[in-house]
Amino acid sequence: MKNELEKHLIHTYNRSVTLVKGEGVSLFDDKGKEYLDMGAGIAVCALGYSNEEYKKALKDQIDQLIHVSNLFYTEPVIKAAKYLSKASGMDRVFFTNSGTEAIEGAIKLARKYAYLKNKDSKGEIIAMNHSFHGRSMGALAVTGTKHYRDPFEPLIGGVSFADYNNLESVKKLIKKDTCAIIMETLQGEGGIYPATKEFLLGVRKLCDENDIALILDEIQCGMGRTGKMFTYEHYGIKPDIMTSAKALGCGMPVGAFCATEKFATAMCPGDHGTTYGGNPLACAAVCKVFEIFEKEHIVEHAAKMGNYFTEQLQRLQEKHPALLTDVRGKGLMIGIEVSCANGDVVKKALEKGMIVIAAGSNVVRLVPPLVIETKHIDQCISILDSVFAELS
Ligand SMILES: *Cc1c(COP(=O)(O)O)cnc(C)c1O
Repeated sequence: MKNELEKHLIHTYNRSVTLVKGEGVSLFDDKGKEYLDMGAGIAVCALGYSNEEYKKALKDQIDQLIHVSNLFYTEPVIKAAKYLSKASGMDRVFFTNSGTEAIEGAIKLARKYAYLKNKDSKGEIIAMNHSFHGRSMGALAVTGTKHYRDPFEPLIGGVSFADYNNLESVKKLIKKDTCAIIMETLQGEGGIYPATKEFLLGVRKLCDENDIALILDEIQCGMGRTGKMFTYEHYGIKPDIMTSAKALGCGMPVGAFCATEKFATAMCPGDHGTTYGGNPLACAAVCKVFEIFEKEHIVEHAAKMGNYFTEQLQRLQEKHPALLTDVRGKGLMIGIEVSCANGDVVKKALEKGMIVIAAGSNVVRLVPPLVIETKHIDQCISILDSVFAELS
């Protein structure tokens, strides 16, 4: 059965069940089994599933206009860029189709800025160990997990890796040809590690002193996930270049890189482009997402639910201290570190009707829809409780 489903797919994922429908924070498989969803399509579906207002906005846009090229203005792209710049504190936006493409654009922009200062700049980049920025060649080059990179070498050159939350390790790598420091504001795939205040502020200062771009990847941790619209708001700083995707479209494939005026204006017509990026359908989704976020106070709700969730998980940790060794994260981006195989927790939770995802080698990631309520959190805790009881 499994093999039959996999027959015409390049086997890059170990998929489990076949999902057919979503409603609120529940997903349903082809046998009608319901799952409490703590994964949100990997931190994408912030509004949960089947939000009526969101669906209507997409249907209306389909009737109006699905696609035109970027040689023309459309109302959705203008409006979406305005919403995103306002929410992020960045001045200008370039829409992409995915997170990895947003990273590619961010790297290109940082290199172009350095090139305009010095045509001989080697455009070197400092990235972090255990980071994740995507699967295309540029994004992979700054992804700090060797086994993701090695089979695909040579990638783009000039990248060196520092240790996250270790300012000295970053300082040591700065050279006259460094054009950017790139990192997630809160490391996701690497195992849910928030940046310390000292580290992020220190890196910000290094970038200012050396006139290099601080690129913050907010693809997973942005869009309200950590209880602020963007995670850097917790630190009172701004990046020079910021990438977004995942929950930006809440299900429509869309990403963006954004920049301050100073960096954004390094690019001019001909420097970068995309056929689909920022098309009216994707941007109608972005606009509606920002409208619903504002109207329904989604970010504030995420902060509140995040606090409640963390408290409940800490209690669960007291109950299963040998198996559940750490609870960390921010808002509704939570990692629980386990002493057993994290894949076993994922599998057992699925059997019990709950979707959770693995991160790193020993972390179970909880990134539910931001519209989750305390009753869903209670249900999640009770399922985890029984999973840990069975595994102990
Ligand atoms: C998911 C993710 C990406 C890549 O986004 P895609 O849309 O899968 O290309 C990049 N950076 C971070 C932090 C992510 O979580």
